[in-house]
Amino acid sequence: MRIDFVTLFPELFAPVMGSSIVGRAAKAGLVQWGCVNPRDFAKDRRRTVDGRPYGGGPGMVLMAQPLADAIGSVERKGSRVVFLSPQGKPFRAATARRLSKVKRLILVCGHYEGVDERARCLFDEELSIGDYVLTGGELPALVVADAVVRLLPGALKKEEAVLKESFASGLLDFPQYTRPRVWRRKAVPEALFCGDHGRVERWRAQAALAATRRKRPDLLSPLIFSRASARPGD
Ligand code: SAM
Repeated sequence: MRIDFVTLFPELFAPVMGSSIVGRAAKAGLVQWGCVNPRDFAKDRRRTVDGRPYGGGPGMVLMAQPLADAIGSVERKGSRVVFLSPQGKPFRAATARRLSKVKRLILVCGHYEGVDERARCLFDEELSIGDYVLTGGELPALVVADAVVRLLPGALKKEEAVLKESFASGLLDFPQYTRPRVWRRKAVPEALFCGDHGRVERWRAQAALAATRRKRPDLLSPLIFSRASARPGD
């Protein structure tokens, strides 16, 4: 996979894209990435990329032309152009799975008060990482890149991990424990030492359900609804 970040702040990307699992995936050649700066496509000597909003109001607006030229400079064949925006569709685990199958991702980071509305025709989709407003699209783009890259075959040492983690089956992950067996008088559940694989799996399934009910009951209602609406024999 190839990821291009369209950003006014390219210096923000190397620390994340070069570290941990994503960094290893890049070293192994599973992902290549680069940055394109709209400022390099500005038409004036001062390399202006923003302008005052028509109609007045605070802040500046990213102009459509430098953004269009920056996106146009990247190879578009087989690519998906994603604009990071608080107004986009929520970015979820299923979105990451879908995007992990794309050959090229172009992640466009807005800044200032946002981008000129007419630039929206440049994007295949708009994604939001949550209902809050950040300064720019760089952190959201890195969130998307991290969530996508770790799903690429070979990125994780144990690939089955992604099948069992939170959201994979609609539930949260089961609780995990490691040494010591007792910490601050809290003991690791006995079921995890029984040596019976089936019993451990049953305990984990129940614990995942309990954790979901306690922390994210909203995740359960669609599951209950789809079960209730399933016809007998489905
Ligand atoms: N005025 C815009 C609004 O109210 O919808 C917010 C602009 S925000 C200050 C600047 C840029 O940060 C956006 O264009 C977008 O690229 C990025 N951004 C901010 N919050 C985001 C979020 N929750 N998800 C994705 N991108 C976000």
